[in-house]
Amino acid sequence: MRKVTLFLLLLFALSVNSFGDNSVNYDDCVHVRVLDCGQGLCCLVKMPGDYYMVYDAGTCGFEEDDQGHDGNHEIRTQLADWMGDETEIDLLVISHAHQDHMNRLPEILGNYSVKRVIRTGVVRSVWWSSNTNEAINAMETAGTLEDINLADFSDIRDNPDEPSDLENYFGQEFTYGDSTITLVCGWNDMSKFSDVYTSSGDLYNSTSIVIRLDYHDRSILFAGDTNGYEEPDDPDALDCITSEKYMYKNSGGLIGCDVLIAGHHGSGGSSSRNFIDAVSPKYVVFSAGHYGIARSNYHHPNWQAARRFYESGVDINNIFRTDFGDNEGSPEWFYGRISDEIEVDPPGDDGVDIWLFPDRERDPYVCWERNDIDPHLRPDDFEF
Ligand SMILES: [Zn+2]
Ligand SMILES: [Zn+2]
Repeated sequence: MRKVTLFLLLLFALSVNSFGDNSVNYDDCVHVRVLDCGQGLCCLVKMPGDYYMVYDAGTCGFEEDDQGHDGNHEIRTQLADWMGDETEIDLLVISHAHQDHMNRLPEILGNYSVKRVIRTGVVRSVWWSSNTNEAINAMETAGTLEDINLADFSDIRDNPDEPSDLENYFGQEFTYGDSTITLVCGWNDMSKFSDVYTSSGDLYNSTSIVIRLDYHDRSILFAGDTNGYEEPDDPDALDCITSEKYMYKNSGGLIGCDVLIAGHHGSGGSSSRNFIDAVSPKYVVFSAGHYGIARSNYHHPNWQAARRFYESGVDINNIFRTDFGDNEGSPEWFYGRISDEIEVDPPGDDGVDIWLFPDRERDPYVCWERNDIDPHLRPDDFEF
């Protein structure tokens, strides 16, 4: 969003990078940053009491990309800024085994003391997966890390009417001061949804670990790359499939939240209507980026996914994206685009900050990290 930034920077040069309320102690707030890491996902979380969580840590571009990476925007640099002098990460959640969610984990595990990991246990024979696995195993053997591996739970139902051991574990809470992390769902079995999908990419996404963070009656749902495509020809078109369907039908009160980190970068095959209605978020964040130049693009976030949130009642000014102004062409959501030309949004300039306050009555505050993008300056005549 380079051109937009240059223009708005002039208007907002004096604005502060905060929610602008001096009566609130920042240390009493949950602060989440959805990094602008390009086509990937990395959420940094600071909870009162100096507890730190990292949910996924993938990309700023793939290794073989030719986009040219600015070291200042790499995940390790942004994480170092975020952590300051802290060397311990209390909780690391690895949503699923895709490069755009975990290619930076080996260096994070090498540089920080991670106390607890929640992961699917799906390990792949590529460096970012095997190196992550080896590092976690070594830390577990050394007794410095608690490894919660979904592969250790059986997902076989002895009785079709009874939940499996794994499903019985869903709802498990992890407490960090006044903050609670709840495991909503996630799977190790890659064939779990093979009745719906044949592509391995979709199946990996379906295994995504979903968690909810609660603090003083406010909550954020981290949805990984969960999918829930709506069958256009299905007479029951509002229904959803795979992981979203599972949550819609089984997770009840676990998925309602104030802020949703939307599944699968806002793809068209995620964020089905029923799921959105069950989650009923007030704010939505799409983590997306421009995926390569020479290759076919993903077109995240998809405009129809954005429209489903809008039509479900989410205020247009409460829908954020980490690639504001990007244009990969249709069907990418065109909101924020300033021309019909292909716009390449670079990583590092559109991170999204979320604040949860100690005051239970107070709504979360969501803004772009740099605060030089004012959502109210979006076009008045915007329509889907
Ligand atoms: Zn992804
Ligand atoms: Zn994925």
